[in-house]
Amino acid sequence: MQQIKNFINGEFVGAASGKVFDKRSPSDNSIIAQVSEAGRLEVDQAVAAARTAYLGEWGSYSTEKRVELLYAVADEITRRFDDFVAAEMADTGQPKAVMTHAFIPRGAANFKVFADVIKNVPSESFQTTTPDGLGALNYALRVPKGVVGVISPWNAPFLLMTWKVGPALACGNTVVVKPSEETPMTAALLGEVMNAVGIPKGVFNVVQGFGPDSTGEFLTHHPDVDAITFTGETRTGTAIMQAAAEGMRDVSFELGGKNAGLVFADCDFEQAVEGIYRSSFLNSGQVCLGTERVYVERPIFDKFVAALKNKVAQVKFGRPDDPEANYGPLISHEHQEKVLSYYKKARDEGATVVIGGGVPDMPDDLAAGAWVEPTIWTGLAEDATVMKEEVFGPCCHIAPFDDEQAVIRLANDTDYGLSTTIWTRDLSRAHRVASRVEVGITWVNSWFLRDLRTAFGGSKQSGIGREGGVHSLEFYTEMRNVCIKL
Ligand code: NAD
Repeated sequence: MQQIKNFINGEFVGAASGKVFDKRSPSDNSIIAQVSEAGRLEVDQAVAAARTAYLGEWGSYSTEKRVELLYAVADEITRRFDDFVAAEMADTGQPKAVMTHAFIPRGAANFKVFADVIKNVPSESFQTTTPDGLGALNYALRVPKGVVGVISPWNAPFLLMTWKVGPALACGNTVVVKPSEETPMTAALLGEVMNAVGIPKGVFNVVQGFGPDSTGEFLTHHPDVDAITFTGETRTGTAIMQAAAEGMRDVSFELGGKNAGLVFADCDFEQAVEGIYRSSFLNSGQVCLGTERVYVERPIFDKFVAALKNKVAQVKFGRPDDPEANYGPLISHEHQEKVLSYYKKARDEGATVVIGGGVPDMPDDLAAGAWVEPTIWTGLAEDATVMKEEVFGPCCHIAPFDDEQAVIRLANDTDYGLSTTIWTRDLSRAHRVASRVEVGITWVNSWFLRDLRTAFGGSKQSGIGREGGVHSLEFYTEMRNVCIKL
């Protein structure tokens, strides 16, 4: 049985309380690891180690030295690619191809991209006029924030954690990371990588555990954490924001979504079906950017519903390393119950179930896993529960629409504002609609295509702030102005 410990000041340590919790396989519910739950003591130790490193060795490094080390981190992840893929598959139960093509390579890229950003970022300076005519020179220094608390979710654990750790370290901060209790493995592996390439002790720390009344809350309430970056549910973000208000700590939040896909009759039909299929069902629908509300222009509505149903009918459930399988379980039984309760609600509120809606028949060795069928509904009113709340499961509702103005109103009729996809061959329409949907990112004839240099984040209740490229510097550094009288 694998034992997963906290990573504090360059050492793997258990919890002084002796507390451990089980990590179960999403595929068959077997216990695959025991994880040490960090209490207040370990969180204190991790934050103190991060502070000491920030004020000490790490703080004394030049940007070039940090950049060199972050490149080494990325290379070491790539060298241990198979270990990361295996750990992420075990934690999430998702197909190997998702790990090898997207989640692990992106995790490594997160270190290189932000190393490049910090290497090339300009500063600003202003010549100021003064009454004596000699003037003054103002210039800005970009300084790190200090100790950053990183709280990450389970749905793409390595990618989403490194997306924050990469820029935080590139900017000269130190971090204490709390991965999701559902996915402890890759954060622990990253500790090994940090030691292997010579990142000083205390720069990167991991505390394992739960959120409320546990490790996450101890970390976010810790007075010596200077800023908190969080990816997860909007409700959790509210709790963390309250914690951050003590001491006026800055926050960066990437939260939930209830994203709309807008399919116009002039689209490339096959491309739109494939795109909506991926955006609704990749990672078993557990993607914040996924599409749970699909609006299809009436002339192609029936044909579209039939085509999407046909694709969904072909999914092959199985373990992550089963070459025949392309579809995984949900992360846990708790999440399975939540998703199934939404399936029931949709039926109770009058949905037509086009396909799915339940639990698939699985062979004996997988029957205990957290499986649910990918599901398509039609016929719900716009105020139905699953049209308003994020399910975060493999499901979407498809509704017809008649004109562009109406579908923009429908897309925007939500508390969330994370992403939208638009499927059309009409370039003018694409620009028009993209400028009017109230979201952080709009994809036209594509989905999940991310250039890490661009701004990423959500509008409305989907987030606070933007990260990515130079935008990450807004959160991970502060500008300090120096004014010199000439
Ligand atoms: P979650 O909010 O339940 O948990 C996220 C993390 O917060 C976990 O590590 C958890 O232990 C911790 N946590 C929970 N309560 C806490 C508290 N009171 N104090 C401190 N920490 C606490 O989210 P989840 O279920 O892990 O992830 C799914 C959610 O994440 C979905 O809503 C999804 O849309 C969102 N998400 C958003 C993005 C984005 O970029 N916008 C990306 C991925 C996931």
